[in-house]
Amino acid sequence: MATEKMEFQTEVKDLLNLMIHSLYSNKEIFLRELISNAADALDKRRFLSVSDASLLPVGTQLRIDVTPFAETKRLIIEDNGIGMNREDLINCLGTIARSGTKQFMKNLKDSDKSSVELIGQFGVGFYSAFMVASKIEVHTKKAGEEQGYLWTSEGAGEFEITEAPKKDVGTKITLYLKDDEDATAFADEWKIKDVIRKYSEFVSYGIFFHPEMKKNDKGDLEVQPEERLNKDMALWRQSEKEITEEQYKDFYGVVGHDANEPAAWNHSHAEGNLEFWSLLYLPSKAPYNIWNQEQQNGLKLYVKKVFIMDDCKELLPPWLRFVRGVVDSEDLPLNVSREILQSNKIITTIRKHVIKKTLEMLKNLATTDADKYAAWWKELGIVLKEGFYMNWEHLDELKELLRFDSTKTEDGKYVSLEEYVARMPESQKEIYYLIGDNKATVKGNPNLEAFRAKGYEVLLLSDPIDEFMVGSLGEYKEKKFHDISRGDVDFEKTAEEKKAEETSKKTFAGLCETLQKVLDSDLKEVRVSSRLKDSPCCLVTDENAMSARMERMMEAMGHKQEKQKRILEINPGHPICEMLKAKAEAGEDLGDWPKALYGQALLAEGSQLPDPAAYVKAITQLLTAVAK
Ligand code: ADP
Repeated sequence: MATEKMEFQTEVKDLLNLMIHSLYSNKEIFLRELISNAADALDKRRFLSVSDASLLPVGTQLRIDVTPFAETKRLIIEDNGIGMNREDLINCLGTIARSGTKQFMKNLKDSDKSSVELIGQFGVGFYSAFMVASKIEVHTKKAGEEQGYLWTSEGAGEFEITEAPKKDVGTKITLYLKDDEDATAFADEWKIKDVIRKYSEFVSYGIFFHPEMKKNDKGDLEVQPEERLNKDMALWRQSEKEITEEQYKDFYGVVGHDANEPAAWNHSHAEGNLEFWSLLYLPSKAPYNIWNQEQQNGLKLYVKKVFIMDDCKELLPPWLRFVRGVVDSEDLPLNVSREILQSNKIITTIRKHVIKKTLEMLKNLATTDADKYAAWWKELGIVLKEGFYMNWEHLDELKELLRFDSTKTEDGKYVSLEEYVARMPESQKEIYYLIGDNKATVKGNPNLEAFRAKGYEVLLLSDPIDEFMVGSLGEYKEKKFHDISRGDVDFEKTAEEKKAEETSKKTFAGLCETLQKVLDSDLKEVRVSSRLKDSPCCLVTDENAMSARMERMMEAMGHKQEKQKRILEINPGHPICEMLKAKAEAGEDLGDWPKALYGQALLAEGSQLPDPAAYVKAITQLLTAVAK
């Protein structure tokens, strides 16, 4: 095969350009990336050899070797992992942009360009080596194949591939370091050792450093003994007492691919019928791909310390997909496959344990550090809410973990159900909530007026998922949840209030009837309200009808809905209503008023106007009358 020249895919080109010209700080992380690629390749070889022993001859020590050459300014990183064939080289290191690339570039543009920490998280690690190398050679042979290949690139738009015999399976990466000081530093023994120790402590294969040959007493060059840079450790199998907080945090960086500190962790060892270890972490920031249920880092599964797979979905329900960490089972067979995992009793037991420990970890964080939990909730609480319509087992625990905005919380603060119930006035019998499209519209919804005046706290919900979640809330501490935009409000009223209400009902009956006639195609009923203080009117939904918001969401999902007619409530104490009452009683035409009122009510709750032009016309005419 002659040498083949190929172009990098456009996105890769952009990325390389950025690596080479824009990222200056923290260059050392390229070493972490290359070593973590090598460790992944070793994992893959070991995993595949479980079903095909020929891929890993007995006695082979899986390892990573690092050798610098100060004089020629080169650095070699070699592994005897799975290796790559021609297609792998083209796909992985050239033409196909990794799924994270685009997102990574976008984030870099949005934020500070020096946030190189993101590189690992977005899986664009290999290219980071071009921050320090003017040329890179990848010499590699795939396990189970005969032919070796050499991939070469100077990072400037093109790469070359040529056949190149290689004795051993695995990958040898040679970096030709750039001339500047920042780059040549990586041919220096102390610098390399320092960086590798810092970032690669938890790599579960030996990383060996090969010092350059030194002259002996006789002046001959002598090979120096290799030096192992990391300990052989599966951190999760050590006892908690032996592990420092720093080590827990550092390990999170490795398993979670996250430069932020974890919000909390939970380390446990189960013995008995089954033996397994789990080390679970809560990220403090939402991972960029949190909405992609297919693509997570999730939990790594090990069997007897042997890596089996990344992101073992069978271990975590989707509503806990933010959890990161490791599970290591002593009982599963080494050759487990995805199919086996799906119906495996051991996995079911471990999964239960993982859920229990995660909920414990969340509860613990919520009780020991409310502010930290609130910060966590802001980032990831919305995922936890999915638990309400995806499982029935843990609803009680989940309810304790919920946090809400409310009419009594300050901006950025939340209230829990426990606190809410504890501060309910005695006259309040139910837990009140209101749902809207966003915080501002729910906060401004006229439905809240009487509740505010009475001193009743209302939970304000504005996540798209809330509409689905509330259906599973049921009760909390024997208190029912009540959507205040539905049905009647059941306030405790004084005899005087009751009497006043009865009177308004009677005196406004005529107006209600007139309005109903005009707006009949839109409304089921017009009635006198007991929930309004300052606004002239608001819309409410029948107790059992689908909410307007749910209707909109279902339609957005392609389920055409028959429009449910709503109820318009009018405020008998409002001057507009009093004026209209007088007009109706005098048999005058109400003109543009009904349309205007209905439009106001729709806008106030964040709904769309069915005919904005007609509404604007009505309002303009009313305003014009005032202006004249
Ligand atoms: P990521 O490792 O996040 O997938 P990289 O750009 O670092 O992204 O690597 C791209 C791909 O190239 C890897 O997914 C892997 O398939 C392949 N690769 C990189 N380094 C090695 C290696 N040392 N051995 C085998 N394959 C490798």
